[in-house]
Amino acid sequence: NGKSFLVDLTRCTACRGCQIACKQWKKLPAEKTINWGSYQNPKDLSSKTIRLVRFSEVVDNGTLRWLFFPEQCRHCLEAPCSTVPDNPEAILHDKETGAVVYTELTAKEDGESIRMACPYDIPRVDPETKVVNKCDMCIDRVRAGKLPACVQACPTGTMNFGDREDMLKLAEERLAAAQEKYPDAMLVDPEETRVIYLAAVDPASYYDYLEADASDVMPDSLTRKQFLAKLGRPIR
Ligand code: SF4
Ligand code: SF4
Ligand code: SF4
Repeated sequence: NGKSFLVDLTRCTACRGCQIACKQWKKLPAEKTINWGSYQNPKDLSSKTIRLVRFSEVVDNGTLRWLFFPEQCRHCLEAPCSTVPDNPEAILHDKETGAVVYTELTAKEDGESIRMACPYDIPRVDPETKVVNKCDMCIDRVRAGKLPACVQACPTGTMNFGDREDMLKLAEERLAAAQEKYPDAMLVDPEETRVIYLAAVDPASYYDYLEADASDVMPDSLTRKQFLAKLGRPIR
């Protein structure tokens, strides 16, 4: 059954503790940030920023609201990214936890093709080394009986982690509580992923790729990137 996260977005304050903890644990260098008109920093995921708290502004019944979305790999139960490499050992599903892990062999694979296969647009290729990277569920910590660094650092109860069964149960409880305040609250792709988000409003209001879109499934002749380029992103 493995492990799962429940990420309760109704509680996130965008303190970014999880983003910093991820960088520290993974020993990933800070990136040069620029002022691009948002508090979100850096602007996007990268091979060095594998967890990012995204900000979006919505007008809800005439009131301005901020939505916060701490983004990471969803550890899909059937991960499309893992079907891309020629070498079946390159991307592994960890037996015990279910984590989708990019092994050292992944470095020899075409990272952009791996990214294109991801319905959540998560993997990122290092422009210099060409090595693709993403969250690995802090598999080293979890194997040692610890919580993932992002969960350990979260002070608000947004980030939760444990046995999948327990997280699914917690998800239902938190959803019922959230719906009293947010009638449109919903769990995002709980059957498909090990990182289950509880969204207060329509997932697309947070970010285009919070929820996987069936239209992301490309015909074989067209890569997702070509498809997106044709339409002009974002696709919703
Ligand atoms: Fe792979 Fe994307 Fe699923 Fe993560 S979210 S396991 S990168 S397909
Ligand atoms: Fe980063 Fe670990 Fe959290 Fe993944 S599980 S986002 S690697 S801190
Ligand atoms: Fe949100 Fe928790 Fe991350 Fe802070 S640490 S940004 S509250 S998920």
